[in-house]
Parts: sequence; structure tokens; C-alpha cells
Amino acid sequence: TRSEITYFGAGPALLPTDVLEKAAEALVDYQGTGLGIAEHSHRSALAANIINEAKADLANYLDIPDDYEVLFMQAGGSGEFSATVYNLVGAWVTRKQQEALKQVGDDEAKVAELLQKQVATELKLDYLVTGSWSLKAYQEACRLLGSEHVNLATDARTINDKKFGKIPEESTWKLSKDAAMVYYCDNETVDGVEFPKFPDVLAPRADGSGPIVVADMSSNILSRRIPVKNYHVIFFGAQKNLGSTGVTVAIVKKNLLPPVCPQPSPTLLRKLGLPIGPIVLSYETIAKNNSLYNTLSIFDVYIAGQVLKKLLATYSDKVDGQQAVSNKKAEIIYGALESRPDVFKLVTEKPFRSRMNICFRVVKTNDMDVDEKNFLELAKGQGLEGLKGHRSVGGIRASNYNSIPLEGAQKLAEFILTFAGH
Ligand code: PMP
Repeated sequence: TRSEITYFGAGPALLPTDVLEKAAEALVDYQGTGLGIAEHSHRSALAANIINEAKADLANYLDIPDDYEVLFMQAGGSGEFSATVYNLVGAWVTRKQQEALKQVGDDEAKVAELLQKQVATELKLDYLVTGSWSLKAYQEACRLLGSEHVNLATDARTINDKKFGKIPEESTWKLSKDAAMVYYCDNETVDGVEFPKFPDVLAPRADGSGPIVVADMSSNILSRRIPVKNYHVIFFGAQKNLGSTGVTVAIVKKNLLPPVCPQPSPTLLRKLGLPIGPIVLSYETIAKNNSLYNTLSIFDVYIAGQVLKKLLATYSDKVDGQQAVSNKKAEIIYGALESRPDVFKLVTEKPFRSRMNICFRVVKTNDMDVDEKNFLELAKGQGLEGLKGHRSVGGIRASNYNSIPLEGAQKLAEFILTFAGH
């Protein structure tokens, strides 16, 4: 039964049972209206309330400043790989266009000519590749723009025997001058690599200028405090720490949106040979329509909203409270693994170990495959499920998301020690 299982799956992840029970009721009859939440119009007043409350609760929990917009989108984390390219390249073009207008005056042909030159020589997107998901985002940027515009500022595999598991020193990153964005993935779900903190070299300067930073926080959002003001875009799929699969959130700095930075016209983009993104991936369009440009799954926003309400009710100090618990759970599990280096090999180097996705190999006998199969089977017998590593890397992965209770982490740690044998 549900109460006997602790599920360590990497996403979709465990959701709090009380949230699911409430959502099950809402699915049949929402607030006595006789209609379920998935049946009501996304344009109804009650849908607008659900969206606005979820936005406000997210802003409250994470202390998102007023100069950011929260958008609910639908193409998943992978859709945001493309969305960030379209939107940030668009913003770069608009900035260059505004500068060009000052330089050469209101002559459309001259402006376009200058922009064409700048696109050819200056347009760069920087990627810090530290795991499978930032690699996918980098590959998508190359596919959409051409690799001549995409700068692999660092590739963690080059310092670790062609494998992920470390983050190269900031001083070695080859950042472009005036990049349209610097992109990184704060927590690599497959490889168990998490940035220990916001990178110093990306910090804004005293006058507010500095790199345009975009981060994928799909698998560690809501688990620690983030300096939101250092980012232009933070995005995350809901299905790990926030809610059910089906919505993706983008937190976008308002200076990327009109009136400061309207997206360039399709005509100009065509002239410059740059890609024109699908309208549903346009931050400007989604923001203008309060996330209701097209039919949004209000049920998924409702679940996310309930998870946020539960977090706010549990922790008076909001995300700081959850951060303390997340760190403690990770310490308990890593502690057990580290106590038996003869049996368990941790995949990630210590400073970069993910608190959310704990990846390790089992080497009890001479046959790792047999040992890991055995580990998974015995764990399942104890109600510890979802521990198989990602198919691309193998091994064991314990995803320690917010919905894993402290007792769940303790139970896994005890099992780890018992498996190793005293
Ligand atoms: N980024 C990260 C860090 C992820 O873990 C995932 C999915 N596990 C994605 C992006 C892709 O998300 P989706 O499957 O929603 O496209």
C-alpha cells in the first residue's frame, strides 16, 4: 500500500498524500460547483484565482522580487531549452536594435545592415555543461541557431575522465563578451551534480550590469534559497518538487519583457536569418495573457498551489526551513554511504554532490551488476522503491525530493548500512 512505500523516483516524484486526497475530491467536484477542476473553463474566475494564488505563494515562499513575472507554461523542461534560446536571442536583438537606432538614426535599412554584421560576429550563447540536462540544452541551442553561435564555456567531462561528476573551476570558464545568455543547470538530475552556490563570476556588478544568467532548476527548486535577483530566467518542470507533470514555471525578469524589451518582429528575425519561435514559447505572449494564451491545465496549477500552501504552512521561515530539512536528509544518506567506501562508490565529487539526486555504485562482490540488482530487490522488499539509476548511466540513484520525509531518508540510510553488513 501507499503508506508502506517510500518512493525515491527521479520524476515524476512522490506527492504529499493529503494534497492528492484533496485533489482527488477537487477532480470530481470543485468547491461544491458540481464540476471538477479539470472541467471548469481555464477562463473562469475560479481558474484565475488558482493561478494568481499559486503565483503569489511561489513568490512568497522564494522571496521573488516584484520586478519578476511568474509564468506557467506547458512544454516541459525540454520545451524551455528551446524557449530560452528564442526569447534570449530575441532580447539580444532588441538591445542591439535600440543601440543601433541611437547610432545610425531611424533608417531601417541601415539598422538591419548593422544588425546583420553584429549577428554574424557577436551573437553568442554561453553554456556551462555539467551533466546530461545542460548537455541537452546546449545541443538544442546548436540545433536552433547553428553551433557557430553557441559557446561551450565549460564541459565538465574534460576534467573527469570523460564523465560528469565535477564542476570545473570558475577561472577556467571561457565566457563570451556580452553573451545573449549564460545558461546552466543548477542540479543535474541524472548525474547527481549540484552547484554548491551561485557562481561568483556570474554575479551582477555594483551598477546592476553583468551577465544575463539563465538556470534550469527543475530538480532542486523549492529546496534551498536562491538569489533570484542574480538571474534573468529561472525555469523548472513541476514534476519533482512542485507538483504533477504538465506545467512548467518560468520566473522571468521584467526587463526582458515589454515595455523595456519587446521581442523583435518576425520580419527582422527573418532578415537576420534567426529562428522564429512558436508563439506558445514566447515569454512576452504568456506574460501578456497571465499564462492563459491557450488552454492551461488548471488541475496541475492547482496541485502545485496546494503543495506551496503546504510548504508555507509547514515552515514559518519558508524555503529556509525546507532547506535545513533537505540538507539533513542528504547528510544522513551520504553519511551512510561514506561510512562504507568498501561497498559504495559515490559518483560525484564531494563539493558538487547533489542534495536531491544521490548517485552511487554498489561494489560488494566482483560483479557490480549483480550487486546493484540485489540492492534494488532487497530495498524493494523494505518498501524503498524507485532507486534505479538513469538508464544512460546505470547504478543507483536516490532522489531525495521535498516529499521524502526525514523518516524516509533514515529508513534508506539504515537499509544501506544493513546491506553493507556490519
Ligand atoms: N531539466 C532537468 C534538470 C530535468 O531533470 C529534466 C527531466 N528530468 C528536464 C530538464 C526535462 O524535463 P521534461 O521531461 O519535463 O521535458
